[in-house]
Amino acid sequence: MKPLEEAKMKCGLEIHVQIDTKSKLFCSCPTNYLDVEPNTNVCPICLGLPGAKPMAPNKRAVEIAIMVARMLGCKIITDKEIYFQRKHYDYPDLPSGYQRTSTPIGVDGEFLGIGIEEVHLEEDPGQYNPSLGLVDYNRSGTPLIEIVTKPDIKSPEEARAFLKNLMTLFRYLGSLRGEGTMRADVNISINYMGVQGERVEVKNINSIKGVYKVLKYELIRQKNIIKRGGKVKRETRAFLESQMITKSMRAKETAEDYRYIPDPDIQPIIITEDWLRKIEEEMPETPLEKKKRFIEEYGVNEKDAEVLVSDLDMAELFEKVVKALGKEDVDLAVTWIRNELRRSLQYHKVDLYESGIKPEHMVELIKLIKDEVISQKIAKDLVDELVINRGKKTPKEIVEEKGLKVIKDTNFLEKAVEEAIKNNPKAVEDYLSGKKEALNFLMGQVMKITKGRAEPRRVIELLKKKLDN
Ligand SMILES: [Zn+2]
Repeated sequence: MKPLEEAKMKCGLEIHVQIDTKSKLFCSCPTNYLDVEPNTNVCPICLGLPGAKPMAPNKRAVEIAIMVARMLGCKIITDKEIYFQRKHYDYPDLPSGYQRTSTPIGVDGEFLGIGIEEVHLEEDPGQYNPSLGLVDYNRSGTPLIEIVTKPDIKSPEEARAFLKNLMTLFRYLGSLRGEGTMRADVNISINYMGVQGERVEVKNINSIKGVYKVLKYELIRQKNIIKRGGKVKRETRAFLESQMITKSMRAKETAEDYRYIPDPDIQPIIITEDWLRKIEEEMPETPLEKKKRFIEEYGVNEKDAEVLVSDLDMAELFEKVVKALGKEDVDLAVTWIRNELRRSLQYHKVDLYESGIKPEHMVELIKLIKDEVISQKIAKDLVDELVINRGKKTPKEIVEEKGLKVIKDTNFLEKAVEEAIKNNPKAVEDYLSGKKEALNFLMGQVMKITKGRAEPRRVIELLKKKLDN
């Protein structure tokens, strides 16, 4: 039997994330909807009351949208007016009956090999709780950025990597609220056994993991339909997170269903070249630019640079440490930050920004290692200690407190070496008969006796001196 061929998947994403402005998109109500009682950050505009006229679009929100579009390599629309349209649909969280959504601010970008169709602004609706029948309009009118990709994504893994990197990019930019406020719609179609399925849309997925699960699930569901000789039909589906499956909602709506019309109450936006230049000057370095700079400026290898810049806090910590120590210690900084600190943070499930660990801690640690005050083994434990006590004690304090300094006393070390030799005659015999690796075993025993406070180099010297005679 012929093995089943792989399905070819085509996926595009529409990603919404809140923009972190103080006030809403078309009124001056605050956007901190999580911190206040329901329906307190509201006014006639964001409640959509008849006759209420929106204010001019929040300038900061427009500027952030322009920055996002630029960071995604989009061409900014400067040669024509950008206006807000009314997108009509009926839902309890949308009292006006339409959502305001802008025409594209940027188009034709590319990020990590995935084409970006367009970037535009939208207003968030309120929050409806169907089981209680209650609506909270605090969120209504909060600015959202929407990013629409081209259908260039070919696997669930690629979608996940794209979104993770997009969230990192948002962290670099600041001013965006990140994955916690993300809602994504995914489009997916497959070509399988020579049959092209229609495009299925899954709406309102609110985590990167959710997007990954949806794509995995749809891939299998659509393959099974085709395998049975059926047709994948064009439709919109919902993601049931609790069961990790998707469920049919309705036949796909088209643009006509939304009856888009320009909002006559809102002045169009014109992005002038001057304004654009000013915004570009304010733009922070992107992860890709930082990676390039780490490679060129500090001689970090590509893989290490990539890992470092994937976490903005780690990249910044690294750079401060290197600046304090000097460029000759770049390798030590990479080892102790990119490898050891990262390992410990992951093991203890702590993010760097909440770990309390500052550049000074790592500078001090690396100096202790360089000056041979502590052994490598102890230094690793010390990194864990720093993470566990959230940087409340400095490396020096921990070393003093726990007596972790390297043993320089030769007598003491010699005694430890003698003990290891006495207790392990088999290893000694192996070594003497030419099995050099037995020496590492003996060194391990000495380390045990000294609780890791011996310098391996000196232990090897002493072992050889005793055994080779
Ligand atoms: Zn308002």
